[in-house]
This record gives sequence, C-alpha cells and structure tokens, in this order.
Amino acid sequence: MRTQVAHKVIAFDNILYATDFSRQSNAALPFAMSIAHKYGSRLLAVHVLTPPPLENIKTIEVQALEAQALREAQPNTDLHMLTNGRLFAWKAFTRDFVAANHPRLVLGIPLYSDSSTAHDHIVQAKHAFDQTVMGLHQLARHNAPVEIRVVLHRLTIPRLPQLAEYIYRNFPFVVHVALMGLEPTGYTPRNKEMLWIDPAEYQDKLEESVGILATRGMNVSIYNTQLCLLRPSLWKFARKSISDWKNIYLQECQECEVLEQCGGLFQSAEKMHSPHIRAFRDHNSH
Ligand code: SF4
Repeated sequence: MRTQVAHKVIAFDNILYATDFSRQSNAALPFAMSIAHKYGSRLLAVHVLTPPPLENIKTIEVQALEAQALREAQPNTDLHMLTNGRLFAWKAFTRDFVAANHPRLVLGIPLYSDSSTAHDHIVQAKHAFDQTVMGLHQLARHNAPVEIRVVLHRLTIPRLPQLAEYIYRNFPFVVHVALMGLEPTGYTPRNKEMLWIDPAEYQDKLEESVGILATRGMNVSIYNTQLCLLRPSLWKFARKSISDWKNIYLQECQECEVLEQCGGLFQSAEKMHSPHIRAFRDHNSH
C-alpha cells in the first residue's frame, strides 16, 4: 500500500495592502491583487496617516488652554483661533477639545486646493490635505464653528473655482469662507516669483468662485484686497480686514472717494503691491 502524503493547503481569507500612495506602494498593488485572485481572498487596502508633529499638538493645546481660561474670564468675548486643522483628524482629541472649549470660538482653517497634491505642496507637508479634511468633518460632527481660509496667490488661483465647488459640496456646514489677499510678509517676499499675482489678473476666477459660494447661500468674504482692484460686483463681499497696527493707505489713496469704504493695504505691501491701484476721483476716472 502506498503512503499518501497530505499536502498543506495554503489559504488567505484576507490580504492587507498598506499604502501611502507612493510609487513604491503602487508597485506592490498588482502583486497583492494577483495573490488575492489566486486564493480567492478579500483584498483590504489601508492608508495610514502620519501623525502631525508634536510641536503642533503643543501649540494647539496651549491655545485650547487659553480659550478655556477665557471661557471662565470672558464668556461673551468672540474668539478666533487659527489652526491648520490637522489635529482634529483625531476623534478623541476633537471630542475633548470641543467639550472643553469656549462657546464663542471660531476655528480658522486654511484649505488651499481641492487637490491633495497641490494643498500638500503649498503647505509643504505630506498628508496635510487628508488630515485637514478629516479634521473638518470631525469638527462638523461636534457642531464646532469653522471658517475656511483660502489665501489668494499664484498657486491657489488656477483652481480657485474648483476649490469653491469642493468647499460647497463637502463643507456646507462652515460658518464662513474667507478669500484672503496675500500678505507680503514672512516667506512671501523671498518667494515672490512663485507666489505673487496681481489681483487685477485674477478677477475672473475670483468672481466665479465667489458666485459659486454665494449663490448657494454660503457666507463668503474677500479680505485684504483694495476696492480699486476688485470688480464692482465683488465690492459687497470685501471687508476691512487688516488690523489697525499694520494697515496703511498710499499717497494715491488720500484723494480717493472711497477711502472710507476701502480696507487699504498691509504695511508690508508698501513696496509690493499692484501697479493698478488708482484713486477714485470720480466714477469716470476708472
Ligand atoms: S486708491 Fe486706495 S483707498 Fe482708493 S480704492 Fe484704491 S487702495 Fe482703496
């Protein structure tokens, strides 16, 4: 009698494919698919996010503590906290933050593109877009008031209407969308070629984007942009947004009929502003 050798049958019920959407991860996908096909397995894909740097956690926790202290001392004061929003991707953090927070706090969170690649490139941080988007949704779950901030520069203008559409479709709950003229400070002057764009050049995109948001009932404003550079149809969205201590008007402005209505310029824009700034002396001069 011949002895039968029992062969071990290999089976994989589930195959886990981890990816960070890099080229290396993408190269592994066909192998994962072919193994899954061969063994009739279920293919699970997982995308793991890198936690934000520890110093961001510290900064926002310090701000949260300050907000809590203010909640006790001045519960009726309106507060605005600027944050990249990435930390709110963590459910437990958002839950605790909102529970302990000031009742009149609005979180200002920047979003620079509807494309994760473009947003991550602008903020120079991998996975920033994914984390910010997740954070926005976590905050919505807790009814936390959020403002989305978009800085208008050469890298954000090309897809501004697409970003407006994306904001409307994905974050209709935000209390405000601020489209903000570029402040020529910090890294901006050193990266002028890459970032600076004359507002006179992007009025079509700006008008279209504001229209996309405003006609759908979203609260949208234009910050830091001089009235003589804006289309008349956009004037009603323009706000005097520059803090007093860094707000200036040019010599040209002194004779302008709309100086009282206009928010003027940043002090840092004295040497870096549009050549199209021109006083309204009468309505026929423009
Ligand atoms: S000239 Fe000056 S005050 Fe007048 S609209 Fe332009 S920036 Fe504003």
